[in-house]
Amino acid sequence: MDPAVCPRLVVKIGSALLVDHAGTVRTDWLAGVVTDIAERRSQGQQIVIVSSGAIALGARRLGLERGGRASLEDAQAAAAVGQVALAGVWEALLAAQGLIAAQVLLTLGDLEDRRRYLNVAATIARLLDLGAVPVLNENDTVATAEIRFGDNDRLAARAGQAAGAMGVILLSDVDGLFTANPASDASATRIPVVKALTPDVMAMATGETKSGMGSGGMAAKLLAARMAGAAGIALAICDGRVDRPLTHFAASGGGTLFLPPRSAKGRKAWLAGRITVAGTITVDAGAASALRRGASLLAAGVRAVDGPFQRGDVVAIVGPDGELLGRGLAGYDADDAATIMGLRNDAHAAALGYAPRAAMVHADHLVLI
Ligand code: GLU
Repeated sequence: MDPAVCPRLVVKIGSALLVDHAGTVRTDWLAGVVTDIAERRSQGQQIVIVSSGAIALGARRLGLERGGRASLEDAQAAAAVGQVALAGVWEALLAAQGLIAAQVLLTLGDLEDRRRYLNVAATIARLLDLGAVPVLNENDTVATAEIRFGDNDRLAARAGQAAGAMGVILLSDVDGLFTANPASDASATRIPVVKALTPDVMAMATGETKSGMGSGGMAAKLLAARMAGAAGIALAICDGRVDRPLTHFAASGGGTLFLPPRSAKGRKAWLAGRITVAGTITVDAGAASALRRGASLLAAGVRAVDGPFQRGDVVAIVGPDGELLGRGLAGYDADDAATIMGLRNDAHAAALGYAPRAAMVHADHLVLI
C-alpha cells in the first residue's frame, strides 16, 4: 500500500533535517511538517512520528564536541538534555495545529520482548484512538551499546510494526536510493521503486551520513526497508529538505518506494508461520464467527484455556469442534485467561483485581488460518 495514503503511517524525521549546523531546531521547516500532519489527520490518516534530534540538540546545550557523538556517555548525556527540548518543540508545534503531542521513548528491548511489545502496541493504539500524536524516539539515555536500535530508521520500521502501520516514510536529506552515492557520482540515478532488496540493491548504499549528524546513512535505511517489508509494510525514503515534505512527496512522485515482498497480509505472516504454540484457547461458535468478521477475541466467547502460556506468547485458537481457527498473541497469562473466560468485559476487573485489557487476543495480533 502506498505510504502516502495508508490509514496509519509512521513518519521519521532525521536529525539533519530537524537541527541546523548551529544546533538549533529548524522551527519554520518543522512547522510545515506539522501542517502536513494536521492536514492528513483531518483527512483521517493516523500518524505516528519518529523524531531524532535529541543528541544534536543536547550537544549544543552542553557544549559537547562532535555533535555529542564522541563517546557513548556524551551521547547519552546529550540525549537526556536534548529530549526535553525536542519534546517541547513538538508539543508547541502540534498544539498550534490543535493537536496533542504524546512522548514515547523506546529501547530495542521494549520491542523485542513480546510482553513489552504488546504494551507498546496497545499504548500507541490507545493514543491514536484518543486523537493524540505519538512522538517516538529511542530512549538513548538508558539504552546500552549492545541493545540499541542505534538509528531511528530501524526504530521507525519496528515501531511501524508495533503501531499496526501499513506505511513508513523516512524523511531524509537525500531523495531516495540512487544507483551510486549522488554526492560523489554525477551519473547516479534515483530508483523510484524497489520490489526486492537483492544483494545488488543492498550494495548501492553506503553507511555514511551526509550531515554527520544522524547515525543512519543509506545502509541503515535499507535495513529498515527490509525490516518493514518482512512485516508487510511499505517504506519510502524521500526528500525532506523541501517545505511541506509530505505534501511534496505525495505530489512529486519522487523518493524511493520499497514494496513489501508479500501482500499486505504479510504483517501477520510471522504469526501464521509459527509452528510452536504455547497453549490453546477454545472459543464458542459466536466468537468463531466474530473472529471471521475481523473482530478481536473477547473473553466472553472463550470456553477453555490450555496453558501454560504467558501474555505475549503465541497461542492457537480453536473452535467448538476443536478445529484450528488461527493463531494470536495472548493478551493474558493462562491463569488470568482462565479466570475471565466466559465473563463479559465489565466483570473482568473484579475477577482479576486489576484493570483489564481490551481483548483476550487483539485483532491486530491475530491471524486466521
Ligand atoms: N535517537 C537519536 C537522537 O534523538 C537519533 C538516532 C539517529 O540518528 O537515527 O538524536
